[in-house]
Amino acid sequence: MNLHVIDHPLIRHKLALLRDEKRSMPEFKKLLHEIGLLMAYEVTRELRTEPTVVKTPVAVAPSEKLIKHPVLVTILRAGIGMLNPFMEILPNSRVGFLGMNRDEETLQPHSYYNKIPMQALNNKVFLIDPMLATGGSALSALDFLAEKGVHDVTFICLVAAPEGVAAVHEHYPDVAIYTAALDEKLNEKGYIVPGLGDAGDRIFGTGDHENL
Ligand code: URA
Repeated sequence: MNLHVIDHPLIRHKLALLRDEKRSMPEFKKLLHEIGLLMAYEVTRELRTEPTVVKTPVAVAPSEKLIKHPVLVTILRAGIGMLNPFMEILPNSRVGFLGMNRDEETLQPHSYYNKIPMQALNNKVFLIDPMLATGGSALSALDFLAEKGVHDVTFICLVAAPEGVAAVHEHYPDVAIYTAALDEKLNEKGYIVPGLGDAGDRIFGTGDHENL
């Protein structure tokens, strides 16, 4: 299967801290940022480089530079929490947004906004969304990108459910999925079990009790 569960002790440790229901919003955001940095390091391993030379204060150093910078595309709104660490590691990457929310009754995604840089057509695209649950939003995003002619997509999430992975790979077997954890299942409300709850609510502080 085209699934990569990133196996790194620091990611495992920080993910345990992040999942804790007692974690405050600022702590949650900070941990997500840190895990994002570590994941960005791992998923960029396969990027290709070309030779260059750099003049140091001492001599000329044979060096390497990225041939192409991947385009980052994130699914609003929880994706924002993982986008920043990727932008930090890849400052030359163009960034696109797909606005999608989930109908809480049908669990189906609904698209309300999209803006994708044209460089996505001939670059690797990292599609970022922290929670791969039913796979509904991921599939909508992948359908949208495919319709625009974007084909080299890697999906990056924090926690995946087996149902979401299967749904993505049923339609897009070539899309590599990178996740920090593959959890047990979905519950009847479409939440990942054990998961971490609603990622967007935990990043932005919009849990039910805090909504207007
Ligand atoms: N989205 C989330 O934020 N959490 C889940 O468990 C499932 C979907």
